[in-house]
Amino acid sequence: MTISAYPRTVYLSAPDMVRLVQRKGLSACIAGVADRIARDFLRWHEFDKSPRMACHSAQGVIELMPIADASQFAFKYVNGHPSNTHRGLPTVMAFGVLADVATGAPRLLSELTITTAIRTAATSALAARHLARADSRRMALIGSGAQSEFQALAFRDLVGITELRLFDVDPAATAKLTANLAGHGLVLRRCASVAEAVRGADIVTTVTADKTYATIVTPDMVAPGMHFNAVGGDCPGKTELHRGVLEAASVFVEFEPQTRIEGDLQQMPADFAVTELWRVLAGLAPGRRTADQVTVFDSVGFALEDHSALTWMGEVAAELGIGAAIELVPWAIDPKDLFSVLRGASSANGATAAVPSRPVAAAWA
Ligand code: NAD
Repeated sequence: MTISAYPRTVYLSAPDMVRLVQRKGLSACIAGVADRIARDFLRWHEFDKSPRMACHSAQGVIELMPIADASQFAFKYVNGHPSNTHRGLPTVMAFGVLADVATGAPRLLSELTITTAIRTAATSALAARHLARADSRRMALIGSGAQSEFQALAFRDLVGITELRLFDVDPAATAKLTANLAGHGLVLRRCASVAEAVRGADIVTTVTADKTYATIVTPDMVAPGMHFNAVGGDCPGKTELHRGVLEAASVFVEFEPQTRIEGDLQQMPADFAVTELWRVLAGLAPGRRTADQVTVFDSVGFALEDHSALTWMGEVAAELGIGAAIELVPWAIDPKDLFSVLRGASSANGATAAVPSRPVAAAWA
């Protein structure tokens, strides 16, 4: 066993991620993650995929999202507790790990709360580029919570949205969103209802949090040519679209076995036709076919997007020298002599077991 074989793990804390996004720029992060997700979706068959594992409670859900390609395994821990904000906690909190498939050594331990907002917005915008009308400029944004600014800026940067029509049942949340987006080159219109916000919109993004079979968008609100980006219906018993909206639309999903359980699609019969987004990106299935077609991206969040985001953030962290090398795995000079680490700084043969510190970039070697 040589010191270089020791599995250094890079730790990216939430303050590290804030520094990374500030230095790289949020727009560059959204674009970079969107590009990585698009490239990884084209490698669909290289990934070992499964629906996420969920622990449900009356208050919310805690989920584990594993995925691997031939070289890197990733998992994300994420929760969804819509009533959390009343306790001063975020609805969604996440962290995740990247590990070497060849050895199982954990290489990156990262916050994923900010990263989830970035990767969700990136995926939404990526889908809209293929599913919304190319001349879409006006978007209704229903829900003004933690994800909303990220969605707004991703659609501005990657889809060309110039005007947002905003509604939230909590006016204070929309006031926060309006203040945060001031000076970002978007025309902002606060609306008094979902129906008012949706009227005249090219794209409708729903990003609400409520643990109920909600029907925020109803069929009477649907106009020919609209694209729906339904982000908040992502758990059994938690929906946003009336089933009539899905019946009137061509529906696109990330990973069908997972979306059938978690998406707005949970309301539909098992044989209701959907198209996986990767097939559109690969040119194997059409996206939008006509200007009048109604399209729905029934987003729930898929582990592959987190694999992409973790690898991209890890690369940028190494490039910027952000993050700390931590000793997540105990190091013994003789790997069969784990017991030696409990004796203190010395291994069985008397050599010191303390690991010399290395810069972050070296931890990625
Ligand atoms: P949040 O709690 O910060 O914000 C949610 C907002 O929705 C709140 O301001 C709330 O007042 C509003 N809202 C609730 N019911 C509403 C209604 N009927 N009409 C209008 N507004 C309503 O939550 P967040 O972090 O912004 O997440 C929003 C949703 O997105 C959650 O349901 C979350 O689970 C989901 N999410 C999905 C993905 C994905 O990949 N699909 C990723 C992250 C989060």
